[in-house]
Amino acid sequence: MSKLTEIMNKRMAFSFELFPPKTDDGLKKLIGDGGVLDRLAGLYPDYISVTYGAGGGNIGANLEVLKAISSRKQGIVPITHFTCIGGTKDDLRQKLQSYLDNGINHILALRGDLPFGWTGTGGDLRYATELVAFIRKEFGDKFTIAVAGSPEGHISCRSIDADISYLKQKQDNGADFIMTQLCWDMDQFRWWIDAIRAAGVTLPVDVGIMPVLDAKATMNMALSRNGCVLPRKLAEIISKNWIFPDPFTADAEAKDKKSDAAYDEKKASFKEAGIEYTVGLIDEYRVAGIDGIHLYALNKYDDVARIISEAGLIDRV
Ligand code: FAD
Repeated sequence: MSKLTEIMNKRMAFSFELFPPKTDDGLKKLIGDGGVLDRLAGLYPDYISVTYGAGGGNIGANLEVLKAISSRKQGIVPITHFTCIGGTKDDLRQKLQSYLDNGINHILALRGDLPFGWTGTGGDLRYATELVAFIRKEFGDKFTIAVAGSPEGHISCRSIDADISYLKQKQDNGADFIMTQLCWDMDQFRWWIDAIRAAGVTLPVDVGIMPVLDAKATMNMALSRNGCVLPRKLAEIISKNWIFPDPFTADAEAKDKKSDAAYDEKKASFKEAGIEYTVGLIDEYRVAGIDGIHLYALNKYDDVARIISEAGLIDRV
């Protein structure tokens, strides 16, 4: 059993997700001395995962961030996200071997989002189920494998039953635990967790939480890819702090002239309400029978640390 599944069998795990910055300056702010990673590491998460561009275009920066995580003294497990989009078996084998060569043996095995208009991955493997089977066939137990779970159903699934059956197949093919897509609809989540357990999925479920800090980012996450349900409470926070003419235009204009006189106040008031909402959401998840909280840290420290502290996720003994 891997270190992380052992932890999740004993207690709730706690982790962050980072993304590889696109610029040298961004990378320095994240992994340089005294940067965001150092500060997040001081909160002693069990693991930190690092996202991966669908076709692997950002693998260099992804690996740098992963290596920086393993070099921190806190013993935090680095997990790379990994997709099979566009990869031949040879290509995928080489990339996976290169992670092992760099000491990275934890992976979130994903299909990846298909670019608009594509009907398949353009590579040798079609689904995450096949990627999990491939990793086990080629590398045995060298990797701990996490897989994605979608409490609302993946945006292109035939049905939620089909989606859950494929989740079970990921377990059967050798996955170790589940990391979920964000879900604000707690009734749906509670239904899903019962449904996957009834379907024989016994893997630990680590829940992905996106902190609600900014209206534009929240709407983007909900609607740009996943079609997430926005509960009334969250919709009210967005409406009460609406920046006119709309948050997207207003943000673009903010540098020169502010289209809404209360721009700054609304941004700040959204964030306050959003943090309170996120903390409440973590409370609800913690009593819903989950095994871990995985916070999208968005490469930030202050707001993330505040959420963790207000949610009481860490015992400071
Ligand atoms: P799959 O499990 O393969 O599912 C894709 C679709 O196919 C679903 O509709 C499913 O029902 C169906 N399906 C699955 N298996 C089969 C099968 N055997 N036969 C027929 N149909 C099947 N993307 C990135 O590019 N980079 C990232 O770093 C990244 N990180 C993520 C982190 C998390 C926690 C999550 C939840 C998602 C992340 N994604 C990332 C997005 C992910 O790549 C997309 O959601 C993608 O569209 C589906 O990936 P999957 O692994 O869930 O696919």
